[in-house]
Amino acid sequence: MQTQTKQHLVEVKDLSVTYNQGKPNEFQSLKNINVRIYPEEFTIIFGPSGCGKSTLLYSISALQRPTEGEVFLEGSSLTGMTKREQSIVRQFEVGMVFQSFYLIPSLNVLDNVCLPKVFCGESKKERMKEGMKLLERFGIVEQADKYPSQLSGGQKQRVAIARCLINDPKIILADEPVGNLDSQSAENVLGILRDLKDVDKKAVVLVTHDPSHLERADRIFYMKDGFLVKEEVKEGNTFTPVIKKGAEAEEKAIPRELELLVRSFQGMPREYISSLLVPFKAQKVLFHLLMDMPEEQVTLAQGFVKEYLFDKDAKDDLFSALDRDIESGGAGLDKRRAQNISSRLYEMMHLAKDIEIKSPEEGASLMKEYIEKTFSFQLEVDQKSAMESFLQKRIANEVSHEEVITFLDNPVSSGGMGFHKFFARKMAREIEMIMLLRY
Ligand code: ADP
Ligand code: MG
Repeated sequence: MQTQTKQHLVEVKDLSVTYNQGKPNEFQSLKNINVRIYPEEFTIIFGPSGCGKSTLLYSISALQRPTEGEVFLEGSSLTGMTKREQSIVRQFEVGMVFQSFYLIPSLNVLDNVCLPKVFCGESKKERMKEGMKLLERFGIVEQADKYPSQLSGGQKQRVAIARCLINDPKIILADEPVGNLDSQSAENVLGILRDLKDVDKKAVVLVTHDPSHLERADRIFYMKDGFLVKEEVKEGNTFTPVIKKGAEAEEKAIPRELELLVRSFQGMPREYISSLLVPFKAQKVLFHLLMDMPEEQVTLAQGFVKEYLFDKDAKDDLFSALDRDIESGGAGLDKRRAQNISSRLYEMMHLAKDIEIKSPEEGASLMKEYIEKTFSFQLEVDQKSAMESFLQKRIANEVSHEEVITFLDNPVSSGGMGFHKFFARKMAREIEMIMLLRY
């Protein structure tokens, strides 16, 4: 299998939110947002008032429905869930903390904290015991029997944090949690949130418009006018901009670039096209096979892949060149990875060549087998023929990359293959890679 970058907990994909759609007061609050939230990271969403921070946070907890795009929590689409499933997510998976606390005035502190546990089947005694542990931890155990109106702002927010932790969620979303607090209480609450990441290993997302909070972050999303304008991650003591690469960038990049290239090559002799495309192919196929390599190694490995693509009989040379130490003139990959790249590339090239020389039917059938093998599944007999005839159309360039995605994603009842959207995209990308290698 291909190597993966760090696994994310939440993926926000092409998300747009428009309020009052179609009305005179229509307002687009989020515009095509793509972000990922990672485990054990302290993420800050930063931007001026009104830029869409809260809307983004509410979308991640399924309180706000996307107008376009999707939010995935550990791979499952929130929009695809029933209301009941969404509320289970909010009860157990995603804890929320708000600027204005939202404590229930008629319940005492301990009952407020234990509230999310009421319907979980535990005895009241058990519940109270866990609630008290959290009050102790946050230094508010003396307040257990008091009512919210008897507390300071800082104490209220600590109660709210205890409440959001009682069901042990993996993700904590905090919307301007210190906006109503004096500076000392603010410091205390921010420290607690930071501990949830450092000690409890939670993913914490803090929404703020205060630049003095930024230094605490592991990752920062800068927002403006509904757009995500910049993403930075902490490396050592400095923040570096994130440039999207690997799967995220590639997904969009391949079809567009390929389309342009193919258009500009119309009428050129085949061999000529092929040699012009080699450097591009070398780069794309490497991104495809390997997404998390240091840049130096990518560049070195790319050189060797390029040589291989020019001279396809040199398979063993590719492996040893990738495997050899950098000092001895190789790319310095570890053996398994070098093996994996060279054998996968070999398999893909082999398929691409077969598709060129065999009949369209045979080519489509081989491509279908390759997809089944690569993604470890077996199609039913009637699905097989639907898949093959569509692949044949793609090979003949009668349908586009986008149409392949739609076909794979659409339900069987409307003539598609019924795969999950994510899976459909991945498969379509693999098909596109073979298409590219044909030239
Ligand atoms: P932030 O949290 O960054 O201050 P919000 O996400 O609350 O921003 O709001 C973004 C924009 O969307 C603002 O201009 C706000 O006025 C508008 N907005 C938010 N909620 C609604 C709503 N329910 N109806 C109409 N407009 C809204
Ligand atoms: Mg807000």
